[in-house]
Order: sequence, then structure tokens, then C-alpha cells
Amino acid sequence: MGEFDFIGRLQQRLAEQPFNAGIDVGIGDDAAILSPPPDHRLVVTADTLNAGVHFPHCTAPYDIGYKTLAVNLSDLAAMGAEPWACTLTVGLPSLDPAWMESWLDGFLAAAQLGGITLIGGDTTRAPFATFGVTAMGLLPSDAAAGNGGLRRANALAGDDVWVSGELGGAALALRLGEAAPADLRLRLDRPIPRLALGSALRLVPDIGGCCDVSDGLLADLGHIAMASGVRIELDADRIPMGMDVRSVSDGLMLALTGGDDYELAFTAAASAREQVLAAGEETGVAVTRIGRALGGEPGVHVLDPMGREVPVPPRAGWDHFAATAD
Ligand code: ADP
Ligand code: MG
Repeated sequence: MGEFDFIGRLQQRLAEQPFNAGIDVGIGDDAAILSPPPDHRLVVTADTLNAGVHFPHCTAPYDIGYKTLAVNLSDLAAMGAEPWACTLTVGLPSLDPAWMESWLDGFLAAAQLGGITLIGGDTTRAPFATFGVTAMGLLPSDAAAGNGGLRRANALAGDDVWVSGELGGAALALRLGEAAPADLRLRLDRPIPRLALGSALRLVPDIGGCCDVSDGLLADLGHIAMASGVRIELDADRIPMGMDVRSVSDGLMLALTGGDDYELAFTAAASAREQVLAAGEETGVAVTRIGRALGGEPGVHVLDPMGREVPVPPRAGWDHFAATAD
């Protein structure tokens, strides 16, 4: 299969899905042309998946395709944005038609789930599989949009700290590899971007800081702590975990430091508790209050029920270029 066979197939498959409004020119020209709707701000994010780094080499092509887009949708969710359009770069040692078809099935399933339209990209030969997406979302800028998006820097001392869903499942699946039960494996391979929750939280008047949990809860809350200048304290016994994670001896550490959960971690004023719970209920996603933001040195601390600090690894979370990375 050649580059242009692939692009042709992509165009055929895209015809199966509705095109979002405002996309004047999509795939097929030298570049796409977009007309963002009036009174909206454009939210743009990019994320790459590399074979061997972001997914094990044995991952099914469908799951790679799905996750390539889903992780980008998760970033839009974390901003409270509505998915609109995306571009895709594909780098592969060779283009195998059956493999690509399955990959496209997964990518298009995520596109349908998120309501996003693929508008262009690039396809090249590369020494290992690498997939990159630039995703664009829309943020209504009228008064009904709440504070105009969810930002890492908006946490205030006194806020509650919340997280959606359950943590640690993806990290446990990664550890178990082939031995992971199918339902657990889905937590790693098919994360569900919390788009509806992000949109609902955007409308909560006293919402604080927000980010998605891609690198691990402590690392990602660390970004909120640094950006907002708050100290975050988490209650170890409130961290939401499934039975599978709970039952391994280091389950709590998996939940705190394992990556790839793609839940939303956020803060909100205590006065907003009812609205945050309602946002979770409306969108069918559990939300759990796990701690608080305080004044003091920015950082994230975990406390046991006696109020004693739980030791956590110093470099919690993933850094591609960390000096100690192996
Ligand atoms: P150019 O050489 O002008 O950069 P290409 O031949 O690379 O154009 O691409 C032709 C068309 O196909 C463009 O509209 C481009 O956006 C689209 N395209 C190429 N690869 C991809 C891809 N992986 N995903 C989506 N669109 C793609
Ligand atoms: Mg060109």
C-alpha cells in the first residue's frame, strides 16, 4: 500500500462520518481551511504516540488508532473545550493494508465518540511507528461559558481537590501485560476522554484548576500546584481505585503515580460541591473529592487517615528526557 492509497482510503472512510460545521476545506488540498464559529475561542493541543514508548509493540492496531486520538481528546476535555477538527501525522516502516484498516477503525471510533473531524495530515516512512495528532476544540466565549475554560492555573487555596473515575487501572494493565484481564486491558487501550464532564465543569461557577491525568495523579496535580501556587494535600483513603488495583500490594502507588488513566483532576471551591457532584451525575462519570488546596509551598502531599505523610517516589510521573530515565 502506497502513501496515496492510504490517503485515498482515509478520505473514503471519512465520508462515513459527519463533517463539523466551519470546515471549508478538509483533506485533499495543500492545506485545510477553517472558519471558526463567531464568539468561540480556538483551543489547540498536540500529542504523539510512539511505538515502544506510548504503547507496547504488541498493541492491536485498532487500539493504537483509538488511543492516538483519544489522548488528544482528553486534553481538550481538560480545557473544557468541544472537539472540532484535527490533523494526523503517520510515520510507519511500511503500510500494511489490513493493519492500516484496523488502525483506521480505531481512530474513527474515537473521532465519532468525540465528534471531531479529520481535516489533513502527513504520511511518511519512519524507522518505527509514530502517530501524531493536533486537535482543535472550540470554547464558547459568551457569558454562558462560565469562566471561559478550564485552566491549570486557576486553583485557589481553600479549594477542594477532585478526580473523576478510578485510577491505577491502566498502569496495572501495563504491568500485567498479556496476563491482564480483558476489562482491565481496556483501561489502558481504550481510555474514555471525559469530554462531557469537562464541558459541564466549565459551567461550574467556582471551578478552579483542571488537568487530565495522563502522567500520573501526583505529577499532573503537581502541574496544577505549580501553575496555581498552591499546596495540595490528598487523603490516601479517598483515592478512587477499582477492586483490581486495590487488591495489589502497591495499588495506592499505582493509582498515585501510574499514567494513562485520562481522568480529569480538578479543584473547586467548597461552595461548588453540589454542582460538581451534579456535573458528574449528569455526565455519568463518578467524581470523588480526594483532598484540598492550601496556601504554602507548591507541591503535592499524600496523608494517611492519621494525618501522617505517606512517602511517595520523588520523581512521580513520566518525563521523556529525565536524566534518570532508562
Ligand atoms: P503535500 O505534499 O502538499 O504536503 P500530501 O500529499 O502530503 O500533501 O497530502 C495530500 C492531502 O492528504 C493533504 O490534504 C493532506 O492534509 C492529506 N493527508 C496526508 N496524510 C494524511 C494523514 N495521515 N491524515 C490526514 N490527512 C492526510
Ligand atoms: Mg502541497
